[in-house]
Amino acid sequence: MLPDIATRVAALNDRYRHHAAVAVMEKALKDPDTGEVALVSSFGAESVVLLHMVSLIAPGTPVIFVDTLMLFRETLDYQREVSRQLGLTDVRTITAAQAMLDLEDPDNTLHQFNTDACCALRKTVPLEKALSGFDAWITGRKRFQAATRATIDFFEVETPTRMKINPLAHWGREDLEEYMVQNRLPRHPLVAQGYPSIGCAPCTSKVAPGEDPRAGRWRGSQKTECGIHFIGGKAVRVKNGMQEPDNKEKVA
Ligand code: SF4
Repeated sequence: MLPDIATRVAALNDRYRHHAAVAVMEKALKDPDTGEVALVSSFGAESVVLLHMVSLIAPGTPVIFVDTLMLFRETLDYQREVSRQLGLTDVRTITAAQAMLDLEDPDNTLHQFNTDACCALRKTVPLEKALSGFDAWITGRKRFQAATRATIDFFEVETPTRMKINPLAHWGREDLEEYMVQNRLPRHPLVAQGYPSIGCAPCTSKVAPGEDPRAGRWRGSQKTECGIHFIGGKAVRVKNGMQEPDNKEKVA
């Protein structure tokens, strides 16, 4: 049986504090203190960085992809193509249960009047279910994304039984760009069409030069997150690129 999660997270951070992103990823996938690990990926604008790292170290790592059934056709094509190119052998596409969709969003219009309920139905609940058998999941969270992320560690306690791993915690946008260029990684086709952040089709619009990269997500509404990340059991969000004061933060 594994030691308690706080002990393991503290030990992992002590052990790998000075490691680079790829090394942290390698340790995360191999260190017994992390237990069973999955990568959660949206196959969005920057997702290919972590997917590539995983493919080099352990291509059989479970990769969880939440298909909301509202994604761009380009995202679904990109997911298949990137998985094939990188040789990822355990990509798990998950969706909400059909019975729940029939009950709560039978005509696929829930996003028009309650985006939080729609995200919970189509993203958060299916993901939580998919993660239930894992001890840890890898995220793309980075310090530069929010003031209260400024000190995030590579390893974090998420729940009493699960940790989050943030190999890119110290990276900036330029590091992501450089990694993708250096490794000649395929870009999501919508990036070149003005979508620097890509979610569901009904809730994603193009971003003008100079706008925040996430300005096209839920444009015109107060919503800035889908609820996949939690602190203390509550979904977290960010406004205008910075985490809100009530301990909320930006997510995929
Ligand atoms: S991003 Fe929009 S369509 Fe997608 S789950 Fe959330 S509200 Fe629904």
